[in-house]
Amino acid sequence: MGGSIVLFGPPGAGKGTQADAIVLATGKPQISTGDMLRAALAEGTELGLEAKKYMEAGELVPDDVIIGLIRERLKSQDAINGVLFDGFPRTIPQAEALAEIAEVSMVISIQVPDEAIVERIVGRRMDPETGEIYHIKFKPAPSEISSRLIQRKDDNEDAVRTRLSAYHSQTSPLAEWYLQRGILKSVNGNQAMGDVQDEISLLLV
Ligand code: AMP
Repeated sequence: MGGSIVLFGPPGAGKGTQADAIVLATGKPQISTGDMLRAALAEGTELGLEAKKYMEAGELVPDDVIIGLIRERLKSQDAINGVLFDGFPRTIPQAEALAEIAEVSMVISIQVPDEAIVERIVGRRMDPETGEIYHIKFKPAPSEISSRLIQRKDDNEDAVRTRLSAYHSQTSPLAEWYLQRGILKSVNGNQAMGDVQDEISLLLV
């Protein structure tokens, strides 16, 4: 498939997990604005410092910052045959800016009800050595690594509720925007990971 793919859905919908499988299936590189911002934060760059307060509160980072990041990233050689966007665009202005600089061929919307999101996110843990994501209830880590697991700073209940309300007010209108452009495909994200993956695979053939 030519062009780029957008993975769309609320925080905790499983975008990161599904992104790994889509990268394997399509060979397109994953571009996660959340990961890029966390890397900038860890390096202590000016951009990271600017983004920090928004991220920790669960609010969206301003559009101009995000659009600048994406413009730079898309200049890389590996982006030539399209990429997989994960967590971008998150606002209509971001989608408009993206439409100017890249061709989006499909938007995959992973749908998960709000009640399931909070439980998923608050129990989410990461292995800092491998980047693997676990869940205290749904995907427990092997006991030998459980002591080194960390929790994302914005994976607490207050920040999750702010992230969900940002999603509903600023991001979910994008579904209609892409539907009108005829490229929105929806999958049920409220089922086992492998079943979500199967639904997505059918869209990629
Ligand atoms: P994520 O890892 O995608 O959940 O993103 C974590 C946080 O980074 C979000 O809660 C926002 O503060 C920020 N962020 C990531 N991507 C975007 C984006 N496209 N627009 C605005 N803020 C973003």
